[in-house]
Amino acid sequence: MSTLLETSGLTAFYGDFQALYGVDTTLAEGETVAVIGANGAGKSTLMRSIAGSVRQAPEMIRLNGTPIGHLSADRVNGVGVTLVPEGRRLFPSLTVEENLLIGGWRSARSGPWTLEEVYRLFPVLKDRRGNPAMALSGGQQQMVAIGRALMSNPKVLLCDEISLGLAPVVIRDIYAAVPSILERGASLIIVEQNIEQALGIADRVYCLMEGRITLEGRPGEIDRAAMHDAYFGVQ
Ligand code: ATP
Repeated sequence: MSTLLETSGLTAFYGDFQALYGVDTTLAEGETVAVIGANGAGKSTLMRSIAGSVRQAPEMIRLNGTPIGHLSADRVNGVGVTLVPEGRRLFPSLTVEENLLIGGWRSARSGPWTLEEVYRLFPVLKDRRGNPAMALSGGQQQMVAIGRALMSNPKVLLCDEISLGLAPVVIRDIYAAVPSILERGASLIIVEQNIEQALGIADRVYCLMEGRITLEGRPGEIDRAAMHDAYFGVQ
């Protein structure tokens, strides 16, 4: 599989505070990679850096070998990398359909994802298409956030904590969409605090702790004790 996206020596600062220290990651075409780690480990900062909302040096992030680290969030979206942000960030008073359409407006790229395809993926959204987003349950709002991102027909979909605060049955429904998303040509980076969820869905996993990658591997090959230490630190 060829490398689609890579970060090399990625650093990130909030003022004097350093949130990422030389983070190297790769994502191959068709792959699902999970990023796990405790609160404050730097997972969202990594996602926001790739998505262009934390600006980087150009060569720290490459898409198909082309430096994109310096691009704005809109331009990163334009080259095919779309973020489903933590907390969803919907327009609460706009309808479900209006929120979905906004995802398409941000990108001129055509592809498999249309309103009808998003409704096929999440049929409940078709029933609720005329309702304001704020009238939906948390799980349905998460579906809107994912659908909105898909409407830009991304090559890389970045999902930041899409299961946070949702009931297990709802999480299952949301993760059930992953195979359809992969089949339609997107590759995925999924941020998860839930280790079992991450191991169950990902081809490869990175563990972040205090801004550094502490473990990398395929779910079947990762030693659980090493994973515990990489996630929480050696006690
Ligand atoms: P969580 O699971 O809580 O979302 P995370 O792994 O996504 O955590 P980040 O949100 O990337 O971690 O935060 C990494 C570090 O950077 C934390 O120490 C956090 O307090 C700090 N941080 C994040 N955003 C900012 C900001 N806007 N200003 C200052 N510090 C920040």
